[in-house]
Order: sequence, then structure tokens, then C-alpha cells
Amino acid sequence: MNIVREPLKIVLASRNQHKIKELYTFLSQVDSTIEILSLDDIGFLGDIEENGTTFEANALIKAQAVAALGYIGIADDSGLSVDALDGAPGVYSARYAGGHGDDHKNNMLLLENMKDVPDEKRTAQFVSVIACAFPDNSHAPIVCRGTCPGTILHAYRGNGGFGYDPLFYYAPLEKTYAEMTPDEKNQISHRANAMHLFSAAFKKELQK
Ligand code: IMP
Repeated sequence: MNIVREPLKIVLASRNQHKIKELYTFLSQVDSTIEILSLDDIGFLGDIEENGTTFEANALIKAQAVAALGYIGIADDSGLSVDALDGAPGVYSARYAGGHGDDHKNNMLLLENMKDVPDEKRTAQFVSVIACAFPDNSHAPIVCRGTCPGTILHAYRGNGGFGYDPLFYYAPLEKTYAEMTPDEKNQISHRANAMHLFSAAFKKELQK
């Protein structure tokens, strides 16, 4: 007998178009029957308050807000953790300079706060935590963390990407994130590393 499975509807709990694009690329490879929707697609107009103090907590808050509406919710909470700044901007990466999502202001504040930090101490890592929550808690939530090591430059390099991309230098490719093609970034990024772990855990959970 040929069993035809209904498409799995999952909702990406983000309004960041760059993140949605990257997550979409990965998720569309996990299972061809997955239908990937955005918050706008399901008519969710509100804001999800991210008041956690860890990437894990914030990713779960976002995924669970969508699961409460009856969809499988998937969220990424991510940011930049700079060693010389004791892990800042961390979970506050999107609003480091005040308002939410002003990438240029955030980058200028980062450069200002690092102006006296010598090259050998400018190490940092990008972190992405992908969380998934299911309606009615039909499956246990999934939480996966990926990282990518790099250093913070003294000035912008590259025009691609978003956020802190032009200041984040990845030595193995001798490029900033902003100088990479989307394919290059999707091979090595913090989000890619989290997505690889997540894909395996998600497939396993769906078989239960
Ligand atoms: P979130 O939407 O609360 O998870 O905030 C994520 C913030 O971290 C973004 O607004 C960016 O400032 C930063 N960020 C996360 N991932 C990336 C990336 O891949 N490149 C550049 N900046 C990123």
C-alpha cells in the first residue's frame, strides 16, 4: 500500500529575512514533504518577547509561542560572543546599540568597545541555537547549539550578509562572513553547524 503523508507544516518563528532564508535552505533539505511557513503566512502579527538570558531559553520561547498556535515551531536564537568583552554582545546582539536590529549602529559600538583590544585578543564566536517545539507537547522539544570561531576586524570587509558579518573574519577561508557566497557561509556558519545537529535530531524525533 502506498501511504501518502500529509505535508508537515512548520513555522519559522522569526521576522529576520536573512535568517529565514538561511534556515529555509537547510530545512528544505531535511524532508521533501515539509511545508515551511513564516509568521506572516499564519497571520501572526504580534511580537514574541525574548526575555531569556541564554540563547537556548530565547530559542525555546520563540518555538513554543508558535507551538501554542498548533504548528511545529522552529526558531533560531543567535548572536556574537566576543572574548575580550566577556561574551558580549551575546543574547543582546540584535539590540546591542539600543534599538532592535540596527546593524550599522551595533557594529560601530562593537568597534568602539574594542578599539584598545590588540589583534591577538580579538577572538570571538558566533553562536546559533535552533529550537523546535511541537503542538500539545506531542514530542519533546529539541534544542541544538552550533558555533563558529573567528576574529573581529578593525573595519568592514565585504558587502554580503547581515548583522556583524562584515567584521567577523573566518581564518580557514581567509574571508569575513560578508565576503563569502551564501553557499560558503552555509557550509561553515554557526547556523549551519546547529542545523546539522538539528536535522538529525528532528528526523529521529519524527520517527518516534
Ligand atoms: P536574534 O534575532 O534575537 O536571534 O538576534 C540575532 C542577532 O545576532 C542579529 O540581529 C545579528 O546582529 C546577530 N547575528 C546572528 N547571526 C548572524 C549572522 O549569521 N551574521 C551576522 N550577525 C548575526
